[in-house]
Order: sequence, then C-alpha cells, then structure tokens
Amino acid sequence: MGRLIVVSNRVPLPDRNGNPPAGGLAVAVHAALQENGGIWLGWSGETVETEPGPPTIRQEGPISYVLTDLTKTDVDEYYNGFANRVLWPIFHMRLDLAEYARREMASYFRVNRLFADRLVPLLKPDDVIWVHDYHLIPLADELRKRGVQNRIGFFLHIPWPPADILFAMPIYDTILRSLAAYNLLGFQTDYDVENFIGCLQREGAGDVVRNAQGGSISVGNTTGAGSYIRAYDQEFAAAAFPIGIETAEFARLSARVSTRASIQDMRRSLEGRALIIGVDRLDYSKGIAQRIDAYERFLENNPDDRGKVTMLQVAPMSRSDVPEYKAMQDAIATQCGQVNGRHGTIDWVPIRYVNRSLRRAVLAGLYREADVGLVTPLRDGMNLVAKEFVAAQDPEDPGVLVLSRFAGAARELAGGAIFCNPYDTEQTAAAIGQALSMSLVERKVRWERMMTRLLEYDVTHWCRDYLQALNAPASNLS
Ligand code: UDP
Repeated sequence: MGRLIVVSNRVPLPDRNGNPPAGGLAVAVHAALQENGGIWLGWSGETVETEPGPPTIRQEGPISYVLTDLTKTDVDEYYNGFANRVLWPIFHMRLDLAEYARREMASYFRVNRLFADRLVPLLKPDDVIWVHDYHLIPLADELRKRGVQNRIGFFLHIPWPPADILFAMPIYDTILRSLAAYNLLGFQTDYDVENFIGCLQREGAGDVVRNAQGGSISVGNTTGAGSYIRAYDQEFAAAAFPIGIETAEFARLSARVSTRASIQDMRRSLEGRALIIGVDRLDYSKGIAQRIDAYERFLENNPDDRGKVTMLQVAPMSRSDVPEYKAMQDAIATQCGQVNGRHGTIDWVPIRYVNRSLRRAVLAGLYREADVGLVTPLRDGMNLVAKEFVAAQDPEDPGVLVLSRFAGAARELAGGAIFCNPYDTEQTAAAIGQALSMSLVERKVRWERMMTRLLEYDVTHWCRDYLQALNAPASNLS
C-alpha cells in the first residue's frame, strides 16, 4: 500500500517524544501511519478572525501532521452549527433538537472545500485516504471534483439513522449522494449499514449489487459482512467495522493503578458499599437523566439496598458552546441533588457526581473498583466506556456491565452484558438489581465472553481490517 492519509476534524498530536496520546484510535492509526508513512490532516483547534493562512506542518519521522486554522465564523457554523446541532442530533435520532440554519450548512461545505484544497497539493497517486466522521462527509466529493482518483474511505463513528429520520433533514440528499464518492464506507454496526442501505433504497438512489460473505468484516454474533452498492452511478462498498479499544493495555493499566492510594482511598470511602459507575461526556445521547431516574427507582423498589450502594457518575462538560449542552449541566446537577436530598441520610450520599474530566488511568482504576458499570445511552455509535469497563475488571472478581441495547457495543457484548432499555425506568432499575445480586460464577462466565471478544477485536485489529478492506480490489472486499 502507498502512504496513508488520514483526515479528521481534530488531530491527536504526539507528545515531545513522538508518542501518540494514549488510548484507542490515535495509537492504532499512528501505528498504521508509522508503518506506511503518511499525513494526518485536520483543524488545529485555533481560530482566526480572517482567512486562515497556510497550514502548519509538523514532521515526526515518516508522519506529517498538517494543521489548518479555521475562522471563528467557520467554527461557529461548521463545528458548533451544522456538525453538532444538525448532524449529531439527527444521527442520534433527536429530530427535536436539530436546529437548521442555511448559512451553517454553507459553512459546513466551505470547510470541507478548504480541507480538500489543503490536501490536494500534498497527495501522491498511490496514497490511500481515510476520512473520519460526520464533520467531513462531503470531503471525498470535493476531492473528486479536484481530480483526485485515489482510493478514499470513510468511517462514521456515530450511528447512521433510519430513512424516516434522515429525510427530515434539509439537504439530506446532498449528504447521501456525497457518500457515493468514497470507495469504502465503514460503519460501527451492521444495523447502521442496514439503515444506510435503507436510505438509498427508499430514495430510489441505489441498492446492493452483491453481498460479500464472511471474511474479516463479519462481526461476532452478527452477520454484518460487507455489501457492494451501486448508487448515484457509482460503485462502492459498505461494511461494519466496530471500533475497539486497546484491550490488553487497558487491562494492564487498571491492574496497575488499582493499588494507587487515590483509588484505595476511594474504596475506603465507600465503607463496604457496592459501587455503580457511570462515565459519559455530558451529552443528551448518553441518557444520564434517565439513568439517574432508574437508579432512584431501584432505591425506591429495594428499600433494603438503601445505604448499601453508591453511584458514582463522572460527566465532564463537552461542547459548551452549544446551548443544549450548557442546559444539561444545570439539569443533571439539580437532578443529582434532588435524589440525594430525597434519599440520602446523614451518613450516606446515594450519588456522587463529578462534573469534570478524569484521566484515563484514574478511570481505569475506578472501573475496576466498581461492582456495576451502568452504560445506558439512548443512542450511541459504539460507546468505548462499555468496552473499557469490561477490560478493566479483575478476572477473579469481575463487575457486571448493564448496557443499553441502543449502544453500538451491544452488538458485540451480547451474552455478557445485561441489556436494558434506557427509556424503560422500571426495567433498567431491575437490571441494576440483577447486576448487584449476580453470583461470582455467572459474573465470571459473562465477563469472559465479553473479554474474549474485546481482546480479539481490539483497536489494532479494527484499524488493520478497515485498511485491508480499503486497499482490497473492488472484487474482493472481504
Ligand atoms: N473519558 C475520559 N475522561 C472522562 C470521561 C471520559 O478520558 O472524564 C474517555 C473515556 O475513557 C472514553 C472516551 O472518553 O475513552 C469516551 O468515549 P465514548 O465512546 O464512550 O463516548 P464519546 O464521548 O466518544 O461519545
């Protein structure tokens, strides 16, 4: 394969020693870049008042990091606007939260054109281009308009919605059509692939011409092998590639930090109570309010458990420039206060709420201490917290994962996690009870099923599979 060219909204830069930031995607993609040489291009995170100047380039061995500034208007309209107030809510099935503004759509395409303009002069004919996520859907189309004939792949980290939801978005057809400019579309689960194909069919824009059977892109218990699609006079492939974590490394980290004084202090502070943990960016897709309701219902339904369990909810602020996120911060803090006020006693606080970001190592230690991981998004592309919770467990005394059926991770963790419907308070409360009372034998069986899958299909495997499929001749996707 030629060089690898990665494009994403933000670029995870390596530290002074050239090491990529720990955790997940950055490590795996950096390894692939290291192997083949290449470029990682994206927004610098800096805003300027007028037209951005030429990109800054940082060279680390065979990898060039190419960073472009954006104007303040572009960040407001492309990033905070169209990407996070239209695409994010709609792809997470929250039509009620989508805010359309024509100028923001224009800005979204303008930034994609800017990225294309920045990239074209750097490309060589045998480079393979990998574009990440919903900020950059039209990028391949813009590159094709500039004569780029290289193989271009796209990976969507968030869910793809069903047709009835997508079609409510103005310019949905432009978005759908622009995806046909890629050679390979990667989705988190086979459900997303199905939804995507369903959109093309309903639109009368195209259909599957052939399914690739088996191969490395079939997923665990799912049959999500790839499909070849013909749409808008283009042929391309679409398949599920569920993103993984650095499973073995995360397991080692959690074992190492569990002896740290801060983690031991936390354990002592529980005074023998069971610990339920939730970790999420403050985002309406995560179902945090519904989760707190379910925990409260659990306490109401199980008076004997009051005072014997503590819930720790870590929820750092995110996207604070988007009004819905700001409002959530107050709402969740109020809700936690109300539950604590209603059920707390002079020596027991039912919910501990941490409204700031914790470091990865601290999280690894906390997950391992927890008896239950409560991961209950209303909709989530994958949910890496669910996978991290599993990886962090002590094999001799593993905790139990309660997982929303609407998280992408649920496709791989069936048979291990207790599934819940986060909209059903009563059922989620019962799932909490089931998790807390599960026998050690059952906990071990369930955990091993999940861990086996996560060790096998880790983020390195994910990255390799995707790039293999992108490089494969069109006749041999799997
Ligand atoms: N995370 C973190 N510190 C925090 C909260 C979360 O480092 O205080 C990390 C977490 O370990 C996970 C990621 O943020 O790796 C969240 O990924 P996920 O797929 O669960 O959700 P996203 O935020 O991408 O929607």
